[in-house]
Amino acid sequence: MSSSVTDQLVDANRQYASGFTDPGMDARPTRKVAIVACMDARLDLHSALGLDLGDCHTIRNAGGVVTDDIIRSLTISQRALGTTSVVLIHHTGCGLEKLTEDFRTELELEVGQKPSWAVESFTDLDQDVRQSMNRVRRSPFLLHTDDVRGFVFDVTTGLLREVPAVSPSPCR
Ligand SMILES: [Zn+2]
Repeated sequence: MSSSVTDQLVDANRQYASGFTDPGMDARPTRKVAIVACMDARLDLHSALGLDLGDCHTIRNAGGVVTDDIIRSLTISQRALGTTSVVLIHHTGCGLEKLTEDFRTELELEVGQKPSWAVESFTDLDQDVRQSMNRVRRSPFLLHTDDVRGFVFDVTTGLLREVPAVSPSPCR
């Protein structure tokens, strides 16, 4: 009988735990950084950013969009668990680039109600990163909004590209 993917994960966990020793850490990330990223399966945050166990908070959703729930997590991250820096990571080839807000209407037609959330689809990746940075910087709940930086991860090269906070002047 073939095992389900969840069964495979549980098996893998037994392997993991067999070599695991208590790292003796508390819950406060040692590098005091919270990373907000897309859930994309091609983005391995720990490998891509040289992160180790206990270094950071990773907060992920579809698109790495700064929603109220992301602000909730960031607020807890900063106020209860001592992080001071925020890194936002979106990426090339994101599934949200292929969606529009019509997705909500289609859902409504299918199931009879519109979701309360926005799809947060986008067409301009850099603009979407800037919008996310602005939402973090403007949040009244956060203690630390001076070290907020945004990046695009290229899923074909593995490289990060930083997105400047302010949109370049159209007059140039
Ligand atoms: Zn994505």
